[in-house]
Amino acid sequence: MNKAPAEYFSKYDAEKCEVCGDCLVKCPVLKMNRKAAVKAMTDLRSGGGNDKVLRRCESCFGCNIICPNGANPAQLFLEAFHKSHLESGFPAWSFYFQPHEENNFRNYIISRLPADEKALLEKWRDMTPCEEFVYPGCNVCSTPYLTKSGFMDGLNIRGSVDLCCGEMYYRTGMHDKLRETAAKLNGFLDNLGAKKMMILCSAGYNMFSNVLPQFGLKTDVEISSYINWLWERIESGDIRFKRKLEITATIQESCYGKTFGEDYYEIPRKILRAAGAKIIEMPHTKECAYCCGIGGGFPPGSGYNPIDITAASLRVVNEAVATGAKAIVAYCSGCLQSMSAAMAVYPVKRQVWHLLQVVQYCVGENPDLGLNAQRGAMLVRGILLNQSVHLLNPKRVKGS
Ligand code: SF4
Ligand code: SF4
Repeated sequence: MNKAPAEYFSKYDAEKCEVCGDCLVKCPVLKMNRKAAVKAMTDLRSGGGNDKVLRRCESCFGCNIICPNGANPAQLFLEAFHKSHLESGFPAWSFYFQPHEENNFRNYIISRLPADEKALLEKWRDMTPCEEFVYPGCNVCSTPYLTKSGFMDGLNIRGSVDLCCGEMYYRTGMHDKLRETAAKLNGFLDNLGAKKMMILCSAGYNMFSNVLPQFGLKTDVEISSYINWLWERIESGDIRFKRKLEITATIQESCYGKTFGEDYYEIPRKILRAAGAKIIEMPHTKECAYCCGIGGGFPPGSGYNPIDITAASLRVVNEAVATGAKAIVAYCSGCLQSMSAAMAVYPVKRQVWHLLQVVQYCVGENPDLGLNAQRGAMLVRGILLNQSVHLLNPKRVKGS
């Protein structure tokens, strides 16, 4: 069902739900049979659980689009995640993926960045008041090189990994952490006193626009996405393409691309076509796209188990490689890192590009795709060294 993006993130509407089970039957991940789907919905609606949903649902929001009645079943599943966390807690190994943990996957990468990228992060920590700024999001904080481009010169980037938007808390049902995140971001926005914020990540754009206000974010800052900014500047000629990128490319959709609708997810495609690339879509694309892989770790039955995350990432890479396209293009830097990490262990190699790098190439710059591969390999190494050792640890920590 097509509706405004914000509506996909409002609560599950039990009155609209006819318990038809379509959401779980047509879910590209769970693919339940009708009887099991109806039983799962019946149980979840009455406050019970469902093993398959709690073990496999990637909170990708696809079923909110599938539902013919606009009932937002994904939010029902997130409520079940939340309840599970309150009752059973998180496994010890999940902490490596918690956004504000000191010893986590992002800080592992950030502590190993070269001096020029560390200098960028330091610059972005500037908290002096400003009218307009660009919020990098924590995924760009582990890939700062993406912003090193002539057409991004002069952008006033402000933020840090500590100022993460909490998207991973949202998709795992961690309401307590979301409230803490909203309070922290209120302080950040109040201190800056800005009127406009452009966000370099689709997840962050959605969190600030549609989710964090439900958890206490209070701001009247005008929020926009870099995707629109990029396309407007290309169309107006402010960003002028000087050479073509004549490759075949397939696109890894952000989970939020589908909820922002066609106008949004078509922009990366327009940019690729303007670049000269030939697009070959994966079977699961646009509104039925798979999550890039991190979603495999979101359900409480996984708790960021690296085996689930790897399996979900390889599922996407299998599809991408089967298209025959030479390149995988992501417009979310989180997807870029998932694809790059999967490619680090995949037997067949494909180029992985961020959309910003496509534009950088076309304006005559030389984006270093080797850095994408390097960050992907670092992500894998960090998991092996720091997370895997906890896989047999029985300790669990409950949410509040
Ligand atoms: S949420 Fe929508 S698709 Fe799912 S059971 Fe209810 S009405 Fe059917
Ligand atoms: S949120 Fe995604 S994975 Fe979960 S049931 Fe809906 S479509 Fe399936």
